[in-house]
Amino acid sequence: MNQIDFSQRIIQWQQKYGRKSLPWQQDKNLYKTWISEVMLQQTQVATVIPYFNKFMRSFPTITYLANAPLDEVLHHWTGLGYYARARNLHKAAQFIRDNYQGEFPQEFQQVLDLPGIGRSTAGAILSLTLDKNFAILDGNVKRVLTRHQAIEGWTGEKSIENRLWALAEKVTPAKQTDIFNQAMMDMGAILCTRSKPKCNECPISQDCLAFASGTVQNYPTPKAKKKIPIKHAFMLVLSQKDTNGQIIQLKQRPPVGIWGSLWCFPEFANLDLCHQALQSQEIENYQQTLLATFRHTFSHFHFDISPVLIEVDQVEYQQVMEETDSLWYNLQDPQKVGLAAATKKILTAVNKIKEKE
Ligand code: SF4
Repeated sequence: MNQIDFSQRIIQWQQKYGRKSLPWQQDKNLYKTWISEVMLQQTQVATVIPYFNKFMRSFPTITYLANAPLDEVLHHWTGLGYYARARNLHKAAQFIRDNYQGEFPQEFQQVLDLPGIGRSTAGAILSLTLDKNFAILDGNVKRVLTRHQAIEGWTGEKSIENRLWALAEKVTPAKQTDIFNQAMMDMGAILCTRSKPKCNECPISQDCLAFASGTVQNYPTPKAKKKIPIKHAFMLVLSQKDTNGQIIQLKQRPPVGIWGSLWCFPEFANLDLCHQALQSQEIENYQQTLLATFRHTFSHFHFDISPVLIEVDQVEYQQVMEETDSLWYNLQDPQKVGLAAATKKILTAVNKIKEKE
């Protein structure tokens, strides 16, 4: 492969067809690129744009982000998933405020040392914003490279990843690294897509090994599937009407573990335990409705959730109101807190029931 020819074809394609009007590409700075790169790690561009715009309006600088309560940051992340990203952003912003006077660092190692930033993200932030010469290797780039060079093996495997990094460094030009890296990401998102790649429009199709052998769909090699376990829990949805409308009790989860620091419902292995918890709070008169069980899938297990809607009279919830990790969420006037995906789904279901009444 002629490296110069390869990168030049890609750069030329970018200048003609690449994305140049994304919100984080306007008046570029390290902060905007950082936030966009983290949001884009597991999420499509179209989904990210409104989240990015709202995030920037609320947290226009790193110091704003660092000084905001974590709950507010998680609230801005509600719906994007992979909440560890938001927690790491917040932690990193505080580190930058305390150690770099609120200015995003410019040295590769300093960037890499920030929570939630790996080698590819560090390279992307510095190359896309400052045109520093660092290669990147995100999912899009991996797809383009594995197909172009017909590299077999799961890309998460260390030996394959090392090989791809070596290749990425070889093809990344010393000049115009910013345009080249943006081009590789755009190529993966626009042309070399997971399904139905547009090889006929691709500037590197002439020497793409997968295209030549008609095996494009074989790359990247998928990870060998293993069966993931199924867990089940009842979630206690304690609800009552007060003068401000329907309010529902939420509990904040511990900072580590699934849905860390997000607001959710208490979980129980069976209905008896659920009823015992009500008894221990001296809640005896209530109306119970079992809502439909649904599945939430994490990377390592399926979670089947059966929500139990418990409606109580106003006078009976005084005791639970006093707990600090507990809040009464108002369906009509929602508080700005980070909600777990399952919480959102259950609140929507309860809202629908209440609207019908
Ligand atoms: S020719 Fe097709 S498979 Fe090869 S890099 Fe281009 S879009 Fe991807």
